[in-house]
Amino acid sequence: MVCKRFLAALALALFGCHAVAADEVVVYSSRIDELIKPVFDAYTAQTGVKVKFITDKEAPLMQRIKAEGSNATADLLLTVDAGNLWQAEQMGILQPIESPIIDANIPAQYRSSSHAWTGLSLRARTIAYASDRVDPAELSTYEALADKQWEGRLCLRTAKKVYNQSLTATLIETHGSEQTERILKGWVNNLSTDVFSDDIAVLQAIAAGQCDVGIVNTYYYGRLHKQDPSLAVKLFWPNQGDRGVHVNLSGIGLTRHAPHPEAAKALVEWMTGAQAQRIFADTNQEFPANPSVKPSAEVASWGAFKADTLPVEVAGKRQAEAIRMMDRVGWN
Ligand code: FE
Repeated sequence: MVCKRFLAALALALFGCHAVAADEVVVYSSRIDELIKPVFDAYTAQTGVKVKFITDKEAPLMQRIKAEGSNATADLLLTVDAGNLWQAEQMGILQPIESPIIDANIPAQYRSSSHAWTGLSLRARTIAYASDRVDPAELSTYEALADKQWEGRLCLRTAKKVYNQSLTATLIETHGSEQTERILKGWVNNLSTDVFSDDIAVLQAIAAGQCDVGIVNTYYYGRLHKQDPSLAVKLFWPNQGDRGVHVNLSGIGLTRHAPHPEAAKALVEWMTGAQAQRIFADTNQEFPANPSVKPSAEVASWGAFKADTLPVEVAGKRQAEAIRMMDRVGWN
């Protein structure tokens, strides 16, 4: 009798525990509060599931997940760039999510082939040019920015940023090492000034006449253009005659020792669906990763383009090679 009562109490305790546990998901995010909070608030409003999140830079978050090991507090890692997500996968801090919903919502090129992470929003890393000094007819490809024509006219962000490492990695995948190194040398030779610490500074330098062209992520253009609609800088979609524009992503992965794996999976599935995609992409002027969701009017106004179809995980696979090459050619 006592035993039966004990078991009933135990079952209640376990059931109770389980019910509490499933009502919450914990996200470590390198994306700032204002970009993610609207999405999580919408999810909580709909499902009653609380989403707790901690924001920091990706490296400390990844280290923290690794250090916590099986005492994990985080269910999900949310960050930008396939290069970073691939790193997390290599560190062994992620586990696959098998989900027909995610597979149906997000094209395979924007997901890890091992299902360790999925893209949530897309950004093109494209060419920006001074609209008062450059005729877009002069522009064609990333590769052509290495030509003599652009000597002293190019601005680039630092090679230390993963965005440029990923772009370089995809160039290596496409052209091989030798040709990519020639292209990178050409870019470095064409620099008008030292590299910049961020994409906004590259855009401002173009606007200020310090250089005529640069390579930036689209949402930075969106941000600056919103502040100053008269900005004399425009976006150009390169490589439309061949492989297309380099597109990277923000994405999410389930941690290896996630305390609430089922609840976390349900959140990720929802985040790849129409409602979340709309909020998530629009908040940062990105492209939805789910192709059935249209970009915002502002983003759509930049024009349609052909995107490179290389799986973005290539950015991770060739990251180390890319970093060494950028160093060799003197891209700081
Ligand atoms: Fe960024």
